[in-house]
Amino acid sequence: MKLLISQLIEGPNSFHFESQRDSWMGEVAARVGKAGHKVLSPLVADLSLTKLEPDYYLRGQMSFEVEQSCARCAEAFTLPIQHSFDVALAHVEHGRVKSVEIAGESEELDVNFFDGNEIELGPIVEEQFFLSLPYQAVCKDSCKGICQQCGKNLNVEPCACATGQKLSPFSILHEYKLS
Ligand SMILES: [Zn+2]
Ligand SMILES: [Zn+2]
Repeated sequence: MKLLISQLIEGPNSFHFESQRDSWMGEVAARVGKAGHKVLSPLVADLSLTKLEPDYYLRGQMSFEVEQSCARCAEAFTLPIQHSFDVALAHVEHGRVKSVEIAGESEELDVNFFDGNEIELGPIVEEQFFLSLPYQAVCKDSCKGICQQCGKNLNVEPCACATGQKLSPFSILHEYKLS
């Protein structure tokens, strides 16, 4: 999806995109799917693009559901994601950055560069998709994980292995208190 900057109005320009309706978002969903991420819902992005002479500022929110593998029990589960992001878009003309001030002013802001008269949204949304994914996810806070000895999923039922052999900081603390 290319936005022609000449067609933008002063102030915020708001857009709503969905993978089921907008083909370029469908393509983003297909690409992240090929990269091994199973998106279980439409990919939705609300974007607001504001001109900040000579650069642009993109504020966005993405929402979708993605299949994840639990870091504790290894079961697949559905993780709903709501991801907000801010990206500064520095305008590059004839290979030169017109302004780098936007990068220096706010160190937390992601800075992307665009060339010419249009802003390509696909790569930005795709990058934000990957940034939104957690490094590790658990199916639920109370997930008991799998037994280190027999490999049983302890959410299903407790196993017969002796729990005393489990080494956790708490069990060590407990033994210390008893002695
Ligand atoms: Zn789990
Ligand atoms: Zn066990």
